[in-house]
Amino acid sequence: MNEAPDFDALAQPGIRRLRAYDPGHDLVALRRRAEHALTELGSNENSHGPSPRALEAAHAALGEAFRYPDPLGGDLKRALAAHHGIAASQILLGNGSHELLMQFAQVCAGPGDEVLASRHGFAVYGLAATAAGASFIQAEALPREGAMPLGHDLDTIANAITPRTRLLYLANPNNPTGTWYGDDAFQAFMRRVPTDVIVVVDEAYAEYVDAPDWRSAIDHLGSWPQLLVTRTFSKAHALAGLRIGYALGDSRLIAVMERVRESFNVNAAGLAAAEASLGDAVHLAEGVAIARRERAALAGSLLARGMRVFPSQGNFLLVEFGADTPALESALLARGVVLRPMAGYGLPDCLRITVGTPAENARLLAVLDDLAEGRRHG
Ligand SMILES: *Cc1c(COP(=O)(O)O)cnc(C)c1O
Repeated sequence: MNEAPDFDALAQPGIRRLRAYDPGHDLVALRRRAEHALTELGSNENSHGPSPRALEAAHAALGEAFRYPDPLGGDLKRALAAHHGIAASQILLGNGSHELLMQFAQVCAGPGDEVLASRHGFAVYGLAATAAGASFIQAEALPREGAMPLGHDLDTIANAITPRTRLLYLANPNNPTGTWYGDDAFQAFMRRVPTDVIVVVDEAYAEYVDAPDWRSAIDHLGSWPQLLVTRTFSKAHALAGLRIGYALGDSRLIAVMERVRESFNVNAAGLAAAEASLGDAVHLAEGVAIARRERAALAGSLLARGMRVFPSQGNFLLVEFGADTPALESALLARGVVLRPMAGYGLPDCLRITVGTPAENARLLAVLDDLAEGRRHG
């Protein structure tokens, strides 16, 4: 056989610098090895589960699985347009919003350009920028000891915009910090952003918000043409496995983004399930109400055990466990409790905990207590 070339050197420079997305753990392997069911609180999934109507619709779609899905996603777009009070031409569908976040950088940024985001932001933003060959710039986050610890510092982000900035990503609420910013701060921020810098507001956790100062950026699409807002069916709609996300924006901007969309990127079962889920507001509200209640309860329980819990508007909590965090994480994993390590986000003394069902949260607390007991006697 011929000598293999240096494949890394064959990749374009951006890809050479890239490391693949880190999903935390190999959950399939963990499940296979586990003696009992795992308590999976590492991926911000919604274990309340999807609407039964969504599952029924997905099932019905499978009968037609030999056909290509609707490449325009027309039915889902019309339903989303009605839901958000915008035009269908303002919607871009993605195989999860992850795909769209990648697409935006592919379209807007290249070598020599800058893509801006906050430190402790979602890992995909850096991946998207680097894959496009652009420079990824991280603005410093708010101080850890402040009112909105590790949150987006909108002033610092605005100050970091240069003539080379093509695109910037915000998340509201942000993953993994759980932090959010209010509407007044956002509007003041937008007034400082040049119209040729595309601003992406990732609202993957919007449904879980109950902070009164929060407002969706969707309400501002009419004011700021360079604004793109992403949403997903993976979290509150509990359809992560079917991969449906979408972006909202000016129809002319959406049309440009459409050019690089893979023709059948969204599958038929996902399209059907998402549309049906959108029609089941009762089921959605039920899951969200449980998650908000459990978010407060779990935060209180962890706080009572002496842990620092960061304020969160998502379906997860960022929790500081101190210097022993890696050992604690392994011990939890050995007992079948999966959380998300945060070293990759520059927070090695923290873990991110998905707010689960009452039973899942109780199990987490019981295992934490057990481990603490073991340490006292060990
Ligand atoms: C989970 C998450 C998403 C959603 O990803 P999908 O690809 O739609 O499943 C997007 N942004 C953030 C910040 C997330 O945490």
